[in-house]
Amino acid sequence: MAADRSRNVLIVLANPEPGSFCHALAAAARDALTHSGHHVEISDLFAQGFNPVAGRHDFTTVADPARFHYQSEQAKAARENGFSEEIAREQERVRKADNLILVFPLWWGGMPAILKGWLERVLAYGFAYVDGHRFDSGLLRGRRAMTAVTTGGTPERFSPEGVYGPIEGVLYPVQRLGLEYMGLSVEPPFVAYGAPRVSNEEREAMLANFAEKAVAMAALEVDPYEPPCHPLDLVDAGAWSRS
Ligand SMILES: Cc1cc2nc3c(=O)[nH]c(=O)nc-3n(C[C@H](O)[C@H](O)[C@H](O)COP(=O)(O)OP(=O)(O)OC[C@H]3O[C@@H](n4cnc5c(N)ncnc54)[C@H](O)[C@@H]3O)c2cc1C
Repeated sequence: MAADRSRNVLIVLANPEPGSFCHALAAAARDALTHSGHHVEISDLFAQGFNPVAGRHDFTTVADPARFHYQSEQAKAARENGFSEEIAREQERVRKADNLILVFPLWWGGMPAILKGWLERVLAYGFAYVDGHRFDSGLLRGRRAMTAVTTGGTPERFSPEGVYGPIEGVLYPVQRLGLEYMGLSVEPPFVAYGAPRVSNEEREAMLANFAEKAVAMAALEVDPYEPPCHPLDLVDAGAWSRS
């Protein structure tokens, strides 16, 4: 029997304007992926009113009422199903996903705060990584990810001589210190340079190009890691610690 090649793809979208180019990119990927037989879920963070601010409201459990140490609270919640409804819902989406795509505009050289908050709160200690299990052994290994970024700046601004420098450096925090840290295999970023400045024809070509890349990623092998026990029982006490 032929292997099931259909993938679950989670698109996390962070742009407040439904008519934005980011929304158009997410829709183009969704349509092309669905047409190719894949299942797509979109987490539209602004539309959902996602709260990016970390705090005690993240949890129904309490590890230490006297001192709020975020990763210790995340560990307790991971052990006892103590994440808030909002975080548990997003984690379930991540758990189901073979492919993760983050779509966002570059704001002050990084992702909008709402998406940064999603990474901080959802990809929690005890869920996406634990001590001794990061990068190649991160808990989200076997899955694939891609970032799709729109910029105001032109390609020249992101050249080695340009004022911003190469996009690989700009996106290193999310590509390497975020997604790869959790074990995901990360594709090169898709960048829609100067999205508000280019012609409509160029934007349409960008949409088609991005849709193709999303479908190409979905054709690659995946093997989402399923821990044989609770992730916190995998903790390597000798590994560099949480904080
Ligand atoms: C706080 C802040 C900080 C910023 N910092 C930076 C920075 O550090 N570096 C940098 O380079 N830029 C920066 N910018 C600019 C920002 O990155 C761009 O404005 C943004 O990436 C544009 O993407 P968008 O999705 O918001 O597009 P929009 O501006 O919403 O859309 C761009 C164009 O695409 C059109 N469009 C929408 N849908 C379609 C479709 N289906 N087909 C064809 N065209 C369509 C829209 O009508 C519009 O003309 C910053 C902006 C803000 C607000």
